[in-house]
Amino acid sequence: MTFSTLIDHRAAGDPAGAAVADSAQSLTNAELLVRVRAAAAQLTELGVLPGDVVALKLANRVEFVVLLFAAWRIGATVTPVNPALTEPEVLRQLEDSGARLLVVEDGREGVGEVPVISVSDIQRETPTSDAPPVVDPTALALLIYTSGTTGVPKGVMLDHANLDAMTAMGREALQFSGSDRCLLILPLFHVNGIVVSVLSPLLVGGSVVIADRFNPQSFFDAIEEHRPTFFSAVPTIYSMLAALPDEVKPDTSSVRFAVCGAAPASADLLSRFEQRYGFPLVEAYGLSEGTCGSATNPVDGLRKPGTVGLPFPGQEIRILGVDGDSLPHGAAGEVVVRGANVMRGYLGRPDETAAVIKDGWLHTGDVGRLDEDGYLTIVGRSKEMIIRGGENIYPKEIEDVLALDPTVLEVAVVGVPDEKWGEVVVAYVQPRPGSTVDLESIAALCEQRLSGYKRPSAVHVLETLPKSAVGKLDKLALRTAALVAN
Ligand code: ATP
Repeated sequence: MTFSTLIDHRAAGDPAGAAVADSAQSLTNAELLVRVRAAAAQLTELGVLPGDVVALKLANRVEFVVLLFAAWRIGATVTPVNPALTEPEVLRQLEDSGARLLVVEDGREGVGEVPVISVSDIQRETPTSDAPPVVDPTALALLIYTSGTTGVPKGVMLDHANLDAMTAMGREALQFSGSDRCLLILPLFHVNGIVVSVLSPLLVGGSVVIADRFNPQSFFDAIEEHRPTFFSAVPTIYSMLAALPDEVKPDTSSVRFAVCGAAPASADLLSRFEQRYGFPLVEAYGLSEGTCGSATNPVDGLRKPGTVGLPFPGQEIRILGVDGDSLPHGAAGEVVVRGANVMRGYLGRPDETAAVIKDGWLHTGDVGRLDEDGYLTIVGRSKEMIIRGGENIYPKEIEDVLALDPTVLEVAVVGVPDEKWGEVVVAYVQPRPGSTVDLESIAALCEQRLSGYKRPSAVHVLETLPKSAVGKLDKLALRTAALVAN
């Protein structure tokens, strides 16, 4: 199956049904099809051929979805570009991906040699010529660039079969149906936004409402106005929402569940959130290389806080020891995953691809363990592991302890080089609004809960912790800050 004909099917089956909306416009299936066909014809006129790459450097908006399906209709690949990238970073992605065309918010911001078009110049009317959609499951659908927090940004190649596998897995695990409506808040330049929030509901006959830039008030207003059944976000957003004063009581009765993923969340956060809002917050785990998903807690069924749940249906997960052998339940090791959602590889990087995909198993670089029921717990990222005096320490364990302090909103732990120990643990905490962090009570908490070598040698209070564009903690920035401070 490919996604190039999805909008045709929707328009044929339910022309007046809601498809996608943002604060500027709202399209039915029939209207979306007109827009997709018009944009597809225009892309062809602009010289985009099957197999070519179209770069979208756009904010979250309806046109992003239109262009996604337009590119797929003509057999082209989309590479989403984070709008916050600097010009040299954009250029790098355009060159690496070999993009044929760049679509931007404002056509004056040309970059390099690649032809640029403004989103406002995208055709909206029925085209005079219209080629039938290209149907090829092995065509590349997305080229997602890793953020580069752990190396140079690499283009993750996902074909239509990858997206098909992932949405099928998600549909079964999260029980998506035609009555689902997603409120999209994650950026569309990440695979999670595209797959979980857009493709998953559209595939089953549901719809998508694209929210404005996140803030709690506009978010709650959007929930009350559009009555979504689910949304997907990162822990930072849930911790912000969980910390709101009790007087804030939005009507969230339409929401069936929300997905929390992309970064570690503490069990404490999940339970505080669920108690506060009354709908399940299911923690899920995945990476771009696995089309965004590998495990999730069930919506309906046993959710184990602190774990990222069970493998998605059709996904296999193993834990490997240092010698590459599969480890038994309970033992921590590298998480490897296998399934039809695993990427085709990194564009133009066969060596890096071979280093992470071995016999079909994707080596995630995450360290985790499986319990006797098959639930996965992510212990940390092997690249973030701190080695203090020969002892391995995973930041997440320490972060979970510090997050228990009632004055702490968020915490990030990094390893900092140290002459005596090799590396030491340094923590950064962001206070809850209106709270003052008491370093002595934090020290007492650590003493009570953590063995000596795991206790932070310094705890710094920051007004706000630095974040990447998706809302993940920017540990590189913190490590740099710690180095400079030393
Ligand atoms: P780069 O690969 O360049 O460092 P990135 O880390 O942003 O970029 P993504 O594919 O967006 O790459 O993120 C995947 C990683 O996010 C996973 O490998 C894992 O470390 C982390 N992650 C995702 N979900 C969870 C979760 N629920 N709990 C803990 N960690 C998670």
